[in-house]
Amino acid sequence: MTSRNDELFAQSQQFIPGGVNSPVRAFRSVGGTPRFFSRGQGSRVWDADGKSYLDYVGSWGPLILGHADPDVVRAVTDTAALGLSFGAPTEMELRMAEKLVELLPSLEKLRLVSSGTEATMSAIRLARGFTGRSTLVKFEGCYHGHADSLLVKAGSGLLTFGQPSSAGVPADCSGHTLVLDYNDIDQVERLFAEKGDEVACVIVEAVAGNMNLIKPKAGFLEALRELCTKHGSVLIFDEVMTGFRVGLGGVQGLYGIRPDLTTLGKVIGGGLPVGAFGGRADIMDKLAPLGPVYQAGTLSGNPVAVAAGLKTLEKIAAPGFFDQLAAKTRRLVDGFNTVAREAGVLACADSVGGMFGIYFRPTPPTSYAEVMAGDKDAFNRFYHLMLLEGVYLAPSAFEAGFVSAAHSEADIDATVAAAAKCLEKLVA
Ligand SMILES: *Cc1c(COP(=O)(O)O)cnc(C)c1O
Repeated sequence: MTSRNDELFAQSQQFIPGGVNSPVRAFRSVGGTPRFFSRGQGSRVWDADGKSYLDYVGSWGPLILGHADPDVVRAVTDTAALGLSFGAPTEMELRMAEKLVELLPSLEKLRLVSSGTEATMSAIRLARGFTGRSTLVKFEGCYHGHADSLLVKAGSGLLTFGQPSSAGVPADCSGHTLVLDYNDIDQVERLFAEKGDEVACVIVEAVAGNMNLIKPKAGFLEALRELCTKHGSVLIFDEVMTGFRVGLGGVQGLYGIRPDLTTLGKVIGGGLPVGAFGGRADIMDKLAPLGPVYQAGTLSGNPVAVAAGLKTLEKIAAPGFFDQLAAKTRRLVDGFNTVAREAGVLACADSVGGMFGIYFRPTPPTSYAEVMAGDKDAFNRFYHLMLLEGVYLAPSAFEAGFVSAAHSEADIDATVAAAAKCLEKLVA
């Protein structure tokens, strides 16, 4: 029997490079054919062959209410009927900005954009314009979208500028970026001691979610805050993934740290393209038309996208929402840890709020090097066994997973039972 997924993938490769519109979708890391989805409802998705899966990708984080939440869908269709886009201000953008400022205390002003990439790219330009400096500091394994100055890997020494990590990025673009190790406070201190006064900004995934899930070590975020303040550098928390995912106040709320600028995306669009960047008013007021830093967008604040985002934010701000989401996510990782131990597999899991990591190593990683040293082959075999069991995880050992409010305890328990079965097969 031929698979419709296989047919669609073969056809797609004729017209779309690699058959996908974003590389990790291609299943290169785990091997096999990507699933083409035709429908999603709540915690489930259905592929082109009609097989259904419990979904722990949630469109890579945005779908915190699950697929096709009826209130969000209604907000979208009601708004669409009034016009798709104006390229002029609308009241709903104001309400969205108001809501975000209310929920995240470090935001005094913000601007809406259409993706996380645009948010980080714009925040970095703004930080450079505000400080009059060029140097950007990032951490290896943290992903901040695909702007040129961010597609950079570490240089040969701590204080040497980075090398492009993608073809097509001129050395001029990567040559202002310094790449340090996440969670390494000593490195950050040494860098600031030598070059602090050249640093325009430090951008960090305060809880990292793009090299699987890694939590900050005690003191790491505090050190970044202190050093940026001391040297007049702008601290940017990239909360595109963690914002409204780890808790209502983001990582900054969980750890009690106030960044100068924050970037947002994913959940704030509820499944449609919305990003945002915001923070200190004195910095934000450097943006055009008030200030000299140019930034713009034809579809920025698009009413249909903002309607989805605003409705999502309203629903997740309900009392107890994140307690329940975090408890369900905890139930999943506790269950996984138990069945891994029982099966005698060196694997474990951890979570922060509604995001989780599964690691084929004995303890949760604290660095990029530790993540990379995990047993990728074991993950890939586990991945395909879980797929057969009807559980859709992110198709890479280096991605975090997401639970939505639509996942029931029965869904979680079924997932743990599937994991038990798959882990036993791994060691058989
Ligand atoms: C997803 C992500 C981005 C990029 O967002 P896009 O909407 O894919 O451009 C940036 N930063 C972080 C932390 C992300 O997780």
